[in-house]
Amino acid sequence: LFQSVELAPRDPILGLNEQFNADTRAHKVNLGVGVYYDDNGKIPLLSAVHQAEVARVEAAAARGYLPIEGIAGYNKGAQELVLGKNSPLVAAGRVLTMQALGGTGALKIGADFIKQLVPGAKVAISNPSWENHRALFERAGFEVINYPYYDPATHGLDFQGMLNALRALPAKSVVVLHACCHNPTGVDLTNEQWREVAKVIKDTNLIPFLDIAYQGFGDGLEQDASAVRLFAELDMTMFISSSFSKSFSLYGERVGALTIVTGSQDESNRVLSQVKRVIRTNYSNPPTHGGTIVSTVLNTPKLFALWDQELAGMRERIRLMRRQLVEKLAQNGVKEDFSFVMKQRGMFSYSGLTAAQVDRLRDEHAIYAVSSGRICVAALNSHNIDVVAKAMANVMKT
Ligand code: PMP
Repeated sequence: LFQSVELAPRDPILGLNEQFNADTRAHKVNLGVGVYYDDNGKIPLLSAVHQAEVARVEAAAARGYLPIEGIAGYNKGAQELVLGKNSPLVAAGRVLTMQALGGTGALKIGADFIKQLVPGAKVAISNPSWENHRALFERAGFEVINYPYYDPATHGLDFQGMLNALRALPAKSVVVLHACCHNPTGVDLTNEQWREVAKVIKDTNLIPFLDIAYQGFGDGLEQDASAVRLFAELDMTMFISSSFSKSFSLYGERVGALTIVTGSQDESNRVLSQVKRVIRTNYSNPPTHGGTIVSTVLNTPKLFALWDQELAGMRERIRLMRRQLVEKLAQNGVKEDFSFVMKQRGMFSYSGLTAAQVDRLRDEHAIYAVSSGRICVAALNSHNIDVVAKAMANVMKT
């Protein structure tokens, strides 16, 4: 049975982690990760999360099955985060939200459902994108193509290239968009640019799939939802995948949500019945623990305020690291202008390092980054930033 099975290629980022773990140099630094670390290099347990968790354990609640679509309060909370508290679309019964197994799970349920609706659709993802976007949509049976996004010459956005490519897509193609804090580049659209993109998507009759995995890491919970709100204002039907892995620091709990905006209450009823079948035949219903914690935080004003504050703390620490990295590179004699690092949003930076420089960082300095030059700014801290800036300067100079 298994004789002809070929060895699948290693996941590039997980492979990097394995290499890092095997490295015995004491001063090693892993900037290849996609995780927020605190200033002591630890994954934080947020206070709001901890309090909700303690309350849950004390309640000694039974662990029955959840409904197929998950916890109602969780879904309502997730929906309000992306669309706002007073969304007219929600009031009109045009919004469905389903608890999902992380952002990945939300994307996969959405992908499987779209496959059923528009089997021949093309899926367009940004160049570059989170590497699992391509794999996930291909696995779901779609042809996946790229639209231009990052412009290495400016360390910014190839906006015209992006617009032209979107305009040229056949109607009913799926366009996957990073609603904020683009992974891997850190380059986001301005509100004006979002407006233009949304208009092209609407005029060309494309299907927007907004992926929001870092809400709160850019400028704040509300501000980071502005792209989603703009699509909603234009009255567009759309898919939204939310991930709470980073914002709640609950990576292993698999907390995410799929939100679908339909055209009417009647459509919503029918769509929900179909999406529930997709879920039922995949994993039946979502797990209780992480979902209950997130739901408690989202629906308890005191805990929500605490969470918002803790999220701001993470966001500000990343900003500080961006600023210090730019300053320290200059102090170490780097002549190139690195101020673009401060304009980028979220956990990542496309640093501009070449694959050869990334190799040297690893071999000579025990500093690990992705070969594309992506570094996780959230893995920098006051203890390692001097070493990292010095090493980066070193590999850039010689
Ligand atoms: N979308 C993007 C853009 C991401 O960066 C990630 C996680 N790295 C995800 C989705 C998936 O998130 P999760 O870990 O919650 O499945």
